[in-house]
Amino acid sequence: MSTNGTNGVDPELLRVRRESRGCKDCGGDGMTIVFHPRWKGVRVDRMWNGEVEPVDGEDGSTEIRHVMETTAMEVAAHCVCALGRWMRQRVDEDLRARIPDVLAIVEGRSKWLLDPPPSEGVVGGASRFAHKAPREAVAGMVDGFRVSA
Ligand SMILES: [Zn+2]
Repeated sequence: MSTNGTNGVDPELLRVRRESRGCKDCGGDGMTIVFHPRWKGVRVDRMWNGEVEPVDGEDGSTEIRHVMETTAMEVAAHCVCALGRWMRQRVDEDLRARIPDVLAIVEGRSKWLLDPPPSEGVVGGASRFAHKAPREAVAGMVDGFRVSA
């Protein structure tokens, strides 16, 4: 094993990275892409956020309109593997609430899906590995934990 670049790195991180190498869900990145139940082949969609607002019509009448919001349809989630667990334990509570947890998905406690839902207009079914986050983005997140000295 090379000792290059390991100076000052949390030995625990090195251990979980090794343990998670080749993980079937994240490929060893600790994070994997999950899908919104209403995913239709795009990463971001406009969806009704559950609220309505009054809008003045041209004829002076008032209409009630659904408030649409840009919603992420694919997001990075913390993996069930050792590295995913390690990362999830180290993010702020605020961030943890916003990043889906693959463990919660597996246990049915999350609306997010591990595989893209069958969708009209999407031929052949998408592979979630085709949608994986770029490796450098994931690496950036690991660096964001300031694990190096
Ligand atoms: Zn994993």
